[in-house]
Amino acid sequence: MIQLYIPLNFLGVIYREIKQSLADMERLFSLLDQHREIADKPNTQALVVQGAEVKFSHVGFSYEAKRQILFDVDFTIAAGTTTAVVGHSGSGKSTLSRLLFRFYDVNEGAILIDGQDVRDVTQASLRNAIGIVPQDTVLFNDTIEYNIAYGKPGASKDDIVAAAKSAYIHDFIESLPDGYATMVGERGLKLSGGEKQRVAIARTLLKHPAILIFDEATSALDSKAEQAIQAQLKEIAKDRTTMVIAHRLSTIVDAAQILVLDHGRIVERGTHAQLLAADGAYAQMWARQQARQDESPASPTDDDAV
Ligand code: ATP
Repeated sequence: MIQLYIPLNFLGVIYREIKQSLADMERLFSLLDQHREIADKPNTQALVVQGAEVKFSHVGFSYEAKRQILFDVDFTIAAGTTTAVVGHSGSGKSTLSRLLFRFYDVNEGAILIDGQDVRDVTQASLRNAIGIVPQDTVLFNDTIEYNIAYGKPGASKDDIVAAAKSAYIHDFIESLPDGYATMVGERGLKLSGGEKQRVAIARTLLKHPAILIFDEATSALDSKAEQAIQAQLKEIAKDRTTMVIAHRLSTIVDAAQILVLDHGRIVERGTHAQLLAADGAYAQMWARQQARQDESPASPTDDDAV
């Protein structure tokens, strides 16, 4: 019996390994597959970044022929400033970031970076200029150091530690028994959503992108965690053209521009103060979130409809 048990047990381990690799491969291929239609034109030049002004010029977009998602979306993020996008679930916020990263091409209008249409520059140079902090970061089954360094292959340990410090995750890493050598991911230490997002921030800081897309996690946070996110956002957005997809309005009160998206259209725009004074959809969202915060500091906010 024992003779049979050992190989079977071994097979079980191999099966789990293969399954895990397949899961990773699947993720990779579904991404590749999804975006296969996007290709560099012949003789495309690299993007030349100066201040990294981002312009959406009358953009219309649909994933499928019969269902338009964005309508005449027109805005500019001045070089080095932060624009926040708010709106209820499904209004098209993440679609804006996918288009900027050129996972898809627009159907109408254009997206320009420092005056260059994203369709006219190499994808490699475009993606090099943009750092994304996603809502849910996928960690590789490797060390935490590797996971941060992934932002910039060949980064020195000093750079990695500096990035981790700026992302407020260095002390946490140092508290782990194996420090930066701790294995994370599905087969290693499981990190919380906030910790994973901080790894993603460190990764992005290491990459030093001229443009940053920050997709704020929707999960409920206590006010301490919320303050931490605010501080991190300030740190990473400093002197960078930043687009924040925001769910907690309190994290974006300092944004140079806030866009309110509703069913794929920009229905309001301005600073926090201007939008409160306008007493429209944004002011209502703000009032609702404030009321909820008074009731319970950790209440989720994603269902806030405009
Ligand atoms: P949330 O706050 O929930 O993340 P969102 O405002 O970011 O929402 P998007 O993810 O931009 O919304 O989605 C906008 C619309 O596009 C939704 O109705 C969604 O169902 C649709 N959509 C998103 N991705 C695809 C896709 N790959 N194919 C078809 N439709 C899609």
